[in-house]
Amino acid sequence: MKDDFQREEQTRAEIARLLKSGLKTETAPFPEDSTAFSAILQRIRDDAGDDLEKKLIIGGFTDYPMGEDKQRCQECMYYLVHRRWCDLPELDVPVEPDWWCRLWRI
Ligand code: SF4
Repeated sequence: MKDDFQREEQTRAEIARLLKSGLKTETAPFPEDSTAFSAILQRIRDDAGDDLEKKLIIGGFTDYPMGEDKQRCQECMYYLVHRRWCDLPELDVPVEPDWWCRLWRI
């Protein structure tokens, strides 16, 4: 179990590093309906799979809250508070509460 925790922390640190280093992610367009939302999920399944960097790019990750409403993982329906985790199956990655991606939903 401790190994799992350490692995998750390593992945969290790797994502933080990638985002801080200026990785260009597709923050727009934000999916305005379920069809557009599903299309992004399909792209992640087809083009990213388990590739962490591609997931971040297609998902449009940022390491800061987004927009006037300051949307962030913390209030997203996919966020698991105690694990600091994104539970959307196509992403399934450790996240920080102040991060965001364009699959944000409430
Ligand atoms: S779907 Fe995006 S905004 Fe929501 S918890 Fe996952 S990474 Fe964060």
